Amino acid sequence: VRTLGPGREFDLLQEIFDRLGPVANGLGDDCALIDVGGRTLALSIDASVEDVHFRTDWLSFEEIGWRATAAALSDLAAVGATPIGALVSLGVMGSGKRETGSVDPVLEIMGGVGACVASVGAKVLGGDLLRSEKYLVDVAVIGTVDRAVRRGGAQAGDGLWVTGALGAAGTALEALKKKKPLSTSLRARFAHPEPRISAGRWLAVHGATAMIDISDGLAGDAAHLAAASNLALDLSLERIPCWPGVEPLAAVGSGEEYELLVALPGEFHERDAAEFHANVRLSLTRVGSCLAGTGVRFLDRGRPVEVPAGWDHFAR
Ligand SMILES: [Mg+2]
Repeated sequence: VRTLGPGREFDLLQEIFDRLGPVANGLGDDCALIDVGGRTLALSIDASVEDVHFRTDWLSFEEIGWRATAAALSDLAAVGATPIGALVSLGVMGSGKRETGSVDPVLEIMGGVGACVASVGAKVLGGDLLRSEKYLVDVAVIGTVDRAVRRGGAQAGDGLWVTGALGAAGTALEALKKKKPLSTSLRARFAHPEPRISAGRWLAVHGATAMIDISDGLAGDAAHLAAASNLALDLSLERIPCWPGVEPLAAVGSGEEYELLVALPGEFHERDAAEFHANVRLSLTRVGSCLAGTGVRFLDRGRPVEVPAGWDHFAR
């Protein structure tokens, strides 16, 4: 039985897999992985929809294009793949429905898509343009991978590590909701997240047993990794690398971070994390351990604490 994680979204996915039956092929990871001519292709698709994933009064169209693309590329990072390119379906309102001044949303969005794709050395490979009541940016990405890291390979005894610092995206979201201005660094982080491609590749080459990108929040994505790997995770709140000014409880609930949560063998130590940092220019912090059992437990200096569940698109 495939185990995805808790929540209505995962119940629904399970029902889809059941309905598809044998025509479904290896669903439920960050990417589809397909062997072609002795190589492995990694593919993923990620839709961003106006008023669900973004608001046009919060982000420029260029930023909307970048962010949607970064979200899709982040799934390639999560399996350790090298991007080849992206295909984009773009839904925009017909002319006259919205006054946009001199800015052409289509060109601005695709400018953001192109810049994000270029930042990881990939190309825009194709797409589709359609009329839609809301802006829609649906990005399919393709890459190659030598040693794909799935969600389900973690072993009891592995350490659990996270790249970068968490909490900026949630902090930015709160500020935008309250119509408060964002600092330059917070805006850069929220509007132009960097897919962790080189980090994912380095970790895949250096023995990662399981990996997932943090799109639903560390707490939620840890639950997905635990369920897929069929083991328990203990995470230490005081070890969580937090964006300046963000409390650990907020950092572990913050979604759309696009950092990587990765299980590495117990022999992977701080000196290896220092080598990662020297190569990738990103921190790698041990936040917990993989254990026999099920579920995710958060500890605050050894004492168990309640942490709100992760993001579920169908919970509301
Ligand atoms: Mg993912």
